[in-house]
Amino acid sequence: MTIKKKLIPNGIPLLVTFVIIGFGWEGFAMDLPEYVCIEGKDNRGPEVLHTAGKKLTFPLSPEDLADVRILEQKFDHEENCAGLAAPQIGISKQIIIFSAPEDPKLKKWRADFTQTMEKTLWINPTYEGMGTDTNEDYEGCFSANDLAGPVKRFKKIQYTAYDLKGQKVEGIAEGFLARIIQHEIDHVKGRLFIELVPKDQLLTIEEYRRRRAAAMES
Ligand SMILES: [Zn+2]
Repeated sequence: MTIKKKLIPNGIPLLVTFVIIGFGWEGFAMDLPEYVCIEGKDNRGPEVLHTAGKKLTFPLSPEDLADVRILEQKFDHEENCAGLAAPQIGISKQIIIFSAPEDPKLKKWRADFTQTMEKTLWINPTYEGMGTDTNEDYEGCFSANDLAGPVKRFKKIQYTAYDLKGQKVEGIAEGFLARIIQHEIDHVKGRLFIELVPKDQLLTIEEYRRRRAAAMES
C-alpha cells in the first residue's frame, strides 16, 4: 500500500546497512525483484495478484526464509510504503510486511491514525471486521501504481497471524492501521484494492491529482 507520507521507521536495519556497505546502494537496489503490476484500468495483470498465496508451515523452510528476507529488503528500500505483500513481488505465499510508526505530522493529516505499529512481518495473516462500521479513503498500491480510488474498509478489525517462529499473534486494530492491515492481507488472499472501488470511481493517478487540485481550489 502506498501513501503520500514517508512511513519507514527511523534508522536503517542492520542487515540492510551491511548489504549497502558490502555491495553499494546501486548493487543492492538491482538485486531486488520488480513489482508485479497491473497497468491501466482494464488490465488484469499477472495471475499471482489474483490468487491466494500458499499458507506456510513451521518451522519455515530455508526458501520461505529467503522470500521473507527479499520482501523485507524491498519494503525497507521504499520511501512511501506502508505495507507490502509477497505476491506483489511474484511470490505466491501468505507473507506481509507493514508499518505505521508514531508520526505526529501524519497524525495531524489523518484523523483516523489513532493506533501505531512498528515494522511488523506476519505469516498466514487473516482478519475479520468487528461490527459493521466502515469508512472510505483513497488507496494506492505498488501493484497498480497508476490507479487510485476510494475503498470502504472496516474501521475496526480482529487479526490473527504468526511471527517468523510460528508464534500466534492476535489483536484488534482500528483506523488507518486497520486499513493498512486489510489492504495487505487482501493481497495474500488474491484481492486487489481496485476490486473494492466502485467502477465509476476508479481513477488514474492523473485524474486523481486533477480532482484533488480542483477540490482544494473550491
Ligand atoms: Zn497493495
